[in-house]
Amino acid sequence: MKVAEMPVESVFPRLEALLPHVQKPIQYVGGELNSTVKDWDSSDVRWALMYPDAYEVGLPNQGVMILYEVLNEREGVLAERTYSVWPDLEALMREHGVPQFTVDAHRPVRAFDVFGLSFSTELGYTNMLTALDLAGIPLNSADRTVDDPVVLAGGHAAFNPEPIADFIDAAVIGDGEQAVLEITDVVRAWKAEGRPGGRDELLLRLARTGGVYVPRFYDVEYLADGRISRVVPNRSGVPWRVSKHTVMDLDEWPYPKQPLVPLAETVHERMSVEIFRGCTRGCRFCQAGMITRPVRERSITGIGEMVEAGLKATGFEEVGLLSLSSADHSEIADVAKGLADRYEDDKIGLSLPSTRVDAFNIDLANELTRNGRRSGLTFAPEGGSERIRKVINKMVSEEDLIRTVATAYGNGWRQVKLYFMCGLPTETDEDVLQIAEMAKKVIQKGREVTGQNDIRCTVSIGGFVPKPHTPFQWAPQLGVEETDARLEKLRDAIRGDRKYGRNIGFRYHDGKPGIIEGLLSRGDRRVGAVIRAVYEDGGRFDGWREHFSYDRWMRACESALPAFGLDLSWYTTRERTVEEVLPWDHLDSGLDKDWLWDDWQDALDETEVEDCRWTPCFDCGVCPQLDTHIQIGPTGKKLLPLTVVNAGAADAG
Ligand code: SF4
Repeated sequence: MKVAEMPVESVFPRLEALLPHVQKPIQYVGGELNSTVKDWDSSDVRWALMYPDAYEVGLPNQGVMILYEVLNEREGVLAERTYSVWPDLEALMREHGVPQFTVDAHRPVRAFDVFGLSFSTELGYTNMLTALDLAGIPLNSADRTVDDPVVLAGGHAAFNPEPIADFIDAAVIGDGEQAVLEITDVVRAWKAEGRPGGRDELLLRLARTGGVYVPRFYDVEYLADGRISRVVPNRSGVPWRVSKHTVMDLDEWPYPKQPLVPLAETVHERMSVEIFRGCTRGCRFCQAGMITRPVRERSITGIGEMVEAGLKATGFEEVGLLSLSSADHSEIADVAKGLADRYEDDKIGLSLPSTRVDAFNIDLANELTRNGRRSGLTFAPEGGSERIRKVINKMVSEEDLIRTVATAYGNGWRQVKLYFMCGLPTETDEDVLQIAEMAKKVIQKGREVTGQNDIRCTVSIGGFVPKPHTPFQWAPQLGVEETDARLEKLRDAIRGDRKYGRNIGFRYHDGKPGIIEGLLSRGDRRVGAVIRAVYEDGGRFDGWREHFSYDRWMRACESALPAFGLDLSWYTTRERTVEEVLPWDHLDSGLDKDWLWDDWQDALDETEVEDCRWTPCFDCGVCPQLDTHIQIGPTGKKLLPLTVVNAGAADAG
């Protein structure tokens, strides 16, 4: 008999005794407003959903929240959540034999049918191993039995799940809403038939749907120099390429309807409504933009209903309008005005967490802050020089930026934050030093417009990591020393400036976590040995600065990779050629590989590509493959790319 069919008891009595000895025990107790506990025995398919990070980061994750609700709404299906436990509790759980548990009913994770993990970053991989081990589930999928759940990876990092191929049973790429229900049906049918063929048969049935990747059914063959020669299915009926899932009509999936309200402090204390999915601006570094195509907008009515229902269900006082580039919704002006009018008296704050300078309209920002305070505006030119912005296809001219900033200052905004990346393909020191120049011009303009001297501008810089399924998937990543040296030059240029230096804040990360993220992003199955070695050496919470240890990762690379004749730089700073088989080529994001290559060549030629929402299609491959079109303006109103703020607007403010 499978464990899941035996009585499953809550581990809470045993856990409770440990909680007084750990930090922030409240994160482990569950019972949040809008959480759900369904009856175990009357459910025939049970999911444990994990965001493999601490509660405070994991709880607000929209992906998990949506799937939790979609699954729990289904008759006979139960879903509970689990998060990474901090090392203090991990040690006590090991000492007292308490397994990885869900926060909803404190059931042991191993008792579930499916253990689904959502990875937005690869730096969560070691946390997955900790959770598996605490759960009593063998780390290697090959060692699992019919008593273990199907370990399923999703989220953006799952678009190249090869580095964790040994540890997961399956991966799903793309939108999860429909996919989890399809998987549920396969699991339910297999269980109802008495689990014929055991675990292998279940995984085979999932693989044969064409939308679930089961690594064990694919053999990877290598060339003598270490590159992949091909990836071949080893079972009949298993597709050569696995397709991504795409929900076409977001209005049909208005989730979360009942957003979870955290008990402990979390990173976002607001409710979020996803106003569209996908992005067609074509920024070449942006994996999220590429893999979530095509654009699918939620209608104004749909957004309004979700905000209304969500506020009622939660009591939150702030609504975030989420997407990859929220000001790009074709009806954002109406959306913002409508919501600001509707909630004017209720003091509900509105925010657009991701906005872009070229689409940013100060009227819109003013509208959003009508009910709240005007603190800071963040713009993301990403590249310091005009040249590098052409390489990355971030079509923002300095003139546009300065003009927009002037309008912002004129409207009472006082703090501007600029976000950039360092280590972009073809980048030189000069490109990065231009960042200092831009910050100075921003302050200069601010002083001019306001007549005040206390204008601040913060420059925040992240290291660029080339990602699969983007035009930069072939690019060499900049090494750690080079990244750090370039950032130091920029820091010196900023600090050394007598006139503006003190008004420019400078935040950056060193290149070390970036190069490890690079290894995990573009790695293949052989990188699994590195992840395991890091985990066994104590690696946990690698996305957290205070827990990440570069030395530990280096030790693991040095012990695991030479057996394959490879090293860290082979995976990171090496440029790939057009004929190389990439580890993720058999996972179909919908983007045509030839188009990606051409776009990479365009990048090297500093040639820009327009946004296909407003220009003719440039054949990236996604729409024909999905037999669809970009969806904009679903309410049928006039489509308006936001007007560029004109210079005169600054004076008007
Ligand atoms: S297929 Fe054409 S219209 Fe569709 S996302 Fe790609 S470039 Fe845009």
